[in-house]
Amino acid sequence: MSKILAEVLAANSDYAAGFGDKANLPMPPGRHFAILTCMDARLDPAKCAGLSEGDAHVIRNAGGRASDDAIRSLVISYKLLGTRECFVIHHTNCGMETFTDDIMRGLLASSLRTASVDASGWHDSGEGPGSTEGNYIDWLTFSDNAKSVVEDVQRIKAHPLVPGDIPVYGYIYDCKTGKLVEVPEATQAGKAD
Ligand SMILES: [Zn+2]
Repeated sequence: MSKILAEVLAANSDYAAGFGDKANLPMPPGRHFAILTCMDARLDPAKCAGLSEGDAHVIRNAGGRASDDAIRSLVISYKLLGTRECFVIHHTNCGMETFTDDIMRGLLASSLRTASVDASGWHDSGEGPGSTEGNYIDWLTFSDNAKSVVEDVQRIKAHPLVPGDIPVYGYIYDCKTGKLVEVPEATQAGKAD
């Protein structure tokens, strides 16, 4: 068994042993809100936003982008499970600022090995084969973090399947301090009608 697999199963066994009254939580989030955020390992929404099991929906992807699939989840979240507010939370030092579609596509075309990064950018080991399938994916990278939060809030707000009375708040989590810093232009764009 891999070391990680053993560690995860042991941790889960401890967790389940103290599960107690969480057995009867209802499916709809008790605090009626959703968070769309990045998958970055340094950002733990439960801790930085004070969530317990059953509180909120957390939708995560690379960058915390308002992709079609993130919107699919948000629509299910309000339409079927009653959430009434939404946060878009990106973070400082996001990996999505370090590459472009062209760079990612080139790395994948070169090989499927893990690439390395240094001051001059991303480099591939070149131990192919790679694949050109990456050319068909929009990697949703960005170069201006605050602007990307505004764009994602705007996309959610403008979506025909999202009702206008749901406010969408825009924030950037600071990986150095643990603080959520508002992007005022995003929150302004996300105001409920
Ligand atoms: Zn990130």
